[in-house]
Amino acid sequence: METPGPPELGKERIDGKVCISVSRPHPRSRIGQFYFGERKEGVRAPRVQPKQRLMTLLDKFDRQITDLRISITDRCNFRCVYCRSADPENYRDHDQILSWPELDRLANIFLSLGIRKIRITGGEPLVRAGVEEYIARLHALGVEDLSMTTNGHLLAERCERLIDAGLRRINISLDSLDPAKFESITRTKSFSTVMHGIDVAQKSRLGPVKVNAVLVRGLNDDEVESFAEFARERGVIMRFIEFMPLDADRTWTRSHVVPAAEVYKRIHARWPLAQIPHERSETARKYRFADGAPGEIGLIAPVTQPFCGHCSRIRLTADGKLRTCLFSKDDHDLRGLLREGASDLDVETYIRSIVDEKEEGHRINAPGFVPPSRTMVFIGG
Ligand code: SAM
Repeated sequence: METPGPPELGKERIDGKVCISVSRPHPRSRIGQFYFGERKEGVRAPRVQPKQRLMTLLDKFDRQITDLRISITDRCNFRCVYCRSADPENYRDHDQILSWPELDRLANIFLSLGIRKIRITGGEPLVRAGVEEYIARLHALGVEDLSMTTNGHLLAERCERLIDAGLRRINISLDSLDPAKFESITRTKSFSTVMHGIDVAQKSRLGPVKVNAVLVRGLNDDEVESFAEFARERGVIMRFIEFMPLDADRTWTRSHVVPAAEVYKRIHARWPLAQIPHERSETARKYRFADGAPGEIGLIAPVTQPFCGHCSRIRLTADGKLRTCLFSKDDHDLRGLLREGASDLDVETYIRSIVDEKEEGHRINAPGFVPPSRTMVFIGG
């Protein structure tokens, strides 16, 4: 029987020997050649069809950026304690949020630059009217991997339409299996609605469904084994996410973090786990149950085992800012550029220059770390 150890600390850190690929040309050489050298003033770069999209987006550490998380709204119908504040609404005005035509245009530009995976998120993506139509347009553009993260509250009634539109995968947040605790974490009365959403998703063509729990010490860390049992009984991929310093109330401390290694040990002691190979850029370390039970465990450890060295992600916020890291100090204003009348080429060139400067790592564990001013709901997880 396979006996994998727990995820190893430090393995995923930036390591030049591991992550630098010499066979891949640097984007700046392509910019020089294609955009600033051979290209004539006023001539548009040909818009490539999905199958012909050959461009790659690389940063200065030669990480290939293929994944884009698009937050389509900063609004949410939940107020999870580890994410949003209980304070009154503090959403941005509608005109500050990217319109659907702006989102369409940016998606097309990102795809032409080499983005292959798009995850729709928020806020809560299902609260924005028109999301099915947007997904259908992304699907028509040829996005290879189209997924969504949702709290599941509105999922049951929308699931089939989302799939018909082209959605292929879904992650549903569920932070407790105890209805009362779930309701105090999310500050809603939605436990049974979310469980129904998970049921519907599982019976749909979306499977296998991923269920995400953010573990916070003293809040829901007593439920690790119950979540694992839930994975086995329901055949879902149960993913445990370490609590990150992105909460609105700024209550995060290191002592609130439940390390992935602890989660692994506890589950493995009860139901031995066997590691499943993963792609370098995947956020989760994946395990199946060694006894052959259905379901899977995923451990996402951004705090105790950062995986920045192989990060392939960038994020577009609902108000049109590009972020190269969840913990970026700065964000970059694509909305302003679009609204000032920039050409696609201007936007592409700007995106390349921002991506080139993507942070080496998030620095949560560095002395003097300061959390970003934007919290998770305003970034898009
Ligand atoms: N509303 C959707 C949902 O609940 O899944 C999508 C947006 S939510 C911001 C995306 C993900 O971020 C969720 O899985 C949520 O649990 C996670 N998240 C929010 N705040 C977090 C934090 N401080 N640390 C870790 N994960 C967090």
